[in-house]
Amino acid sequence: MHHAIVNAKTHKHLVSVLFLDLDKFKNINDTLGHDIGDLLLIEVGKRVQALCSPNDTVCRLGGDEFLIILEDLTHYEKAITVAKEIIASLSKPFYLENKIISTSTSIGITYYPNDGDNIKVLLKNADIAMYRSKARGAGSYEIYTQELSDLIKEMVKLEERLKKAIERNEFLMHYQPIYDLHKQEVIGFEALMRWNYKGTLYYPDSFLHVMEENKMIIEASSALLVSIFSFIKKLNDTFQKEFFISVNVSPVQFGVDSFHDNLIEALEISALEAKYVCLEVTENLFLENIQEISTKLARLQSYGFSIALDDFGTGYSSLKYLKVLPINKLKLDRIFVQELPHSKNDVAITQSVLALGQNFNVQVIVEGVETKEQCTFLEENGCQFIQGYLISKPMSEENVLSFLTKEAEKTL
Ligand SMILES: [Mg+2]
Repeated sequence: MHHAIVNAKTHKHLVSVLFLDLDKFKNINDTLGHDIGDLLLIEVGKRVQALCSPNDTVCRLGGDEFLIILEDLTHYEKAITVAKEIIASLSKPFYLENKIISTSTSIGITYYPNDGDNIKVLLKNADIAMYRSKARGAGSYEIYTQELSDLIKEMVKLEERLKKAIERNEFLMHYQPIYDLHKQEVIGFEALMRWNYKGTLYYPDSFLHVMEENKMIIEASSALLVSIFSFIKKLNDTFQKEFFISVNVSPVQFGVDSFHDNLIEALEISALEAKYVCLEVTENLFLENIQEISTKLARLQSYGFSIALDDFGTGYSSLKYLKVLPINKLKLDRIFVQELPHSKNDVAITQSVLALGQNFNVQVIVEGVETKEQCTFLEENGCQFIQGYLISKPMSEENVLSFLTKEAEKTL
């Protein structure tokens, strides 16, 4: 690399550094064994080498990380072309020991002299860009920019604040009612996380990704589960009802073995039965080993928990999951609801999902219902369960109590 930089300086050329990291390589090692993992690394090396010119350098840094140094470049596009070719090539299946293995790679790209003039900085930049491309999804590339670097610095700051937030118990839950149109009453709540940072409440969108990446969510959630379950227990006792609570579970939480025990322990502490708890999972979860996930879900179900597939319709192959996974509820994403009943497509999608739910014997909860018009349309089309501002925004514990007290007075 040093040689490439000196050369480029003399000839006023560019050097590009590409940082490659295979996506979910650990899964291959874990499920197929290290021997297959090693063979795959060798084949990946060969494919990458085949796409570079003899002047370029391809090396394996360690694990599933590869580095490519492209020398004597006269234009930036060349590195992008190579990155695209590598991504395409590595996404084709590998045939190893009579097994078909699929993988993909994420690539970060940086340039000398624009982004840095020494090895250390270039390596760091390429790593930052790679990290970013991974966050965007498997099988993509990203080019380093200063903004990207600032973004990462912000994330590091956020990470430090979040660590303190756990210690200081700055997280709390808000609860949004889930409404039964047949019974005309609230039947449960979805628990939604909030972060109280210096008096301002932050929504999960702004911090959850960092907590997931650093696995902080695992630590934060076990304490929160107890407070969520205790609150629902209290509601049921106070109002003589059988409200259920829907809890969002991230793939990161689901992936650790302690999750199951944490749930059971939280139930015991709060004296709540599992039948009052619904676990909301998203399709992201199923990108992992689907057989293993299915077993885990079935185990939770047999314990009494119900399982909801969240953000339904926004993923890419939801129907397959319905077929193979034990799922009790579907939550139709709000994006299909906003333009009801005026958008023909949304009407068609909503009607189809409601029918699908009926045929699969799965409850459909329609999210993001905000207007009476949307509600009437849904009711006419056989929808039983809704959630959204029409019923109520997510509320603090205190506000839930006064909301339910008012509801109870109405029915008297
Ligand atoms: Mg949810």
